Amino acid sequence: MRFKPQVKDILKRRAQDRRDLLQIGIAVLMLGRMDVSWGASMLAVRIWPSADYTRVTLESDTPLKASQTFLASPPRLAIDIQGLELNNPLRELVGKVRSDDPNIAGVRVGQYSLGVVRLVIDLKRDIAPQVFALPPVAAYQHRLVLDLYPSVAADPLEALIAERLQSTSSAPAGTSMAQADPLGELISRQSGKSALPPHSPAVGMSPNTAPPSTRRTSPTDSGVYLDDPSHPARSELPRKTDRLIIIALDPGHGGEDPGAIGPNGTQEKDVVLQIAHRLKERINASSMNGNPMRAFLTRDADFFVPLHIRVQKARSVQADLFVSIHADAFFTPHAQGASVFALSQGAASSSAARWMANQENKADLIGGVNIAVQDAQVKRALLDMSTTAQINDSVLLGGAMLREIAGVGRLHKPKVEQAGFAVLKAPDMPSVLVETAFISNPDEEEKLRSTLYQDNLADALMRGIKAYFARNPPLARQRSM
Ligand SMILES: [Zn+2]
Repeated sequence: MRFKPQVKDILKRRAQDRRDLLQIGIAVLMLGRMDVSWGASMLAVRIWPSADYTRVTLESDTPLKASQTFLASPPRLAIDIQGLELNNPLRELVGKVRSDDPNIAGVRVGQYSLGVVRLVIDLKRDIAPQVFALPPVAAYQHRLVLDLYPSVAADPLEALIAERLQSTSSAPAGTSMAQADPLGELISRQSGKSALPPHSPAVGMSPNTAPPSTRRTSPTDSGVYLDDPSHPARSELPRKTDRLIIIALDPGHGGEDPGAIGPNGTQEKDVVLQIAHRLKERINASSMNGNPMRAFLTRDADFFVPLHIRVQKARSVQADLFVSIHADAFFTPHAQGASVFALSQGAASSSAARWMANQENKADLIGGVNIAVQDAQVKRALLDMSTTAQINDSVLLGGAMLREIAGVGRLHKPKVEQAGFAVLKAPDMPSVLVETAFISNPDEEEKLRSTLYQDNLADALMRGIKAYFARNPPLARQRSM
């Protein structure tokens, strides 16, 4: 019979098919497993260019192993990443380099060998790269961060001088600039960098040297109430100082760290940068007792600056004041109004204040700090934290700001709150952190985006700064000894 063999054949073939299918299935499963166990998938790549440094972030589903080599001429950085196949997000990196990137000229990527991707970053200048990994946090998975710092860092004071030169040369002759010699002052300050900081208590000229009886606030009473009569002016201190008054403005977050995000997607880092630029315009157009004022931004574009670097930058230009600008978020959409914070020496003035400080201090985790580098600087900063005088002045400054903000918007708390914000820890610079509004509240999110509110807020902060200086004139700088 010929029928039986045919059936047999068919059955045999079916069995063969099943085996084939099974084998294909096993192979697919194994491939999948191999991918999970020793392969990584690139999820996203980002480039954050700035004059300070350019950051390249490679985000993947598992940690990346990388080794890098810096080649001096022409300057370029080669990075070999293990366990990775070239995919689209990686290829897109090439197109993400902006022509105006101060540090990167271009990027090349290629499959160097099986499972090794080579990235070559062509550089515009000599770079001291920092390459480090960050564990998953917030919305991010594993990140490999390449921070490309110029080998010779720009001196922010020099930049301020250059900016000043430009504006004075374009200013009409006979303006108030002629009354003082801000440039000479800046240069002398720069050459006297080893001198004691301007507000150092050791100089005996600290803003805190007003007699104790005239000081109505202390860190323990946690703030100036709005209905308080203002404290007496410091008439015993010199009223006239011939120099430039420098206000450090610190727009929160930036780059990898968006800060709080509103219900309609507004990012804190964007609105606070806009507000800082508006306040900068006002400061640069102002003077106190004939002394021109100048704003210095700890970041003037969308890039991440670690918290301790913000303070360091402000101190390097010997800023008279430090104003950090943020926007709050809370669990519920109803929280509303602006708040102003000063540093607390011990416990935060309220648990909400402590919570807020923790949120803001998380910026370093999310934005991404090379912990190995940060450690020594933080220890040093903690050593010289004799901040009582600073806190007293900060509370006065914050009170003056709150009084003005009350005229343009709602207040969350009618007094200056205190908590352990990392950016407020400079011992020699009155420092406040302004939470401009609640970005988590849909109405306030809308306001934060509006030019009108941003302008009103910048005006209010400017008036607050001037009111503070009217009663607490900036001191004469200490020349080099
Ligand atoms: Zn913030």
